[in-house]
Amino acid sequence: MLYYAEPVARLIEELSKLPGIGPKTAQRLAFYILNRDPGEVRELAKAIVQAREKIRYCSVCSNLTDLDPCQICRDESRSRSVICAVEEPRDVVAIEKTREYKGLYHVLQGAISPMEGVGPDELRIKELLARLQNNDVLEIIVATNPNIEGEATAMYLARLIKPLGIKVTRIAHGLPVGGDLEYADEVTLSKALEGRREI
Ligand SMILES: [Zn+2]
Repeated sequence: MLYYAEPVARLIEELSKLPGIGPKTAQRLAFYILNRDPGEVRELAKAIVQAREKIRYCSVCSNLTDLDPCQICRDESRSRSVICAVEEPRDVVAIEKTREYKGLYHVLQGAISPMEGVGPDELRIKELLARLQNNDVLEIIVATNPNIEGEATAMYLARLIKPLGIKVTRIAHGLPVGGDLEYADEVTLSKALEGRREI
């Protein structure tokens, strides 16, 4: 990194910490930024800082939001009787894009993975159970990813929730096994929701 002036080296180093950005891409992005108008760069930096500072987790569903509760939890037109449990906030976006689902969500913040030391206590499962205490939830749709961790999480949730007399369903496997929900196209995803079955 001695080839660069210190501020450039630092920019490249920071960019290369981003996911999917190797040293080559980091260098390309750094030079792109250095060629931009300073005002534009300030807007970019501001957008990054503001997003990070204004966004928090919804106290109800654990989705990312700038309002608490989030827009989805506040939306009176959505059904309160169905909660769709997903692993990550980006999965909410993927399902919202199908425009088929009109219930609420619960973001688990991951999936059970003994290999990576993620147990049920690391996920927002307690928070999900708390939501089932006092209201009219009739069904939990488990839309975790179709891989080992996602399946283990679905089974765990079913064992916990079914005894409460609430139906637990799993989205169908039109989804590629081992795949990621967020990469599924909208048609596949809405079919998977439609074809959910009880577990
Ligand atoms: Zn929410």
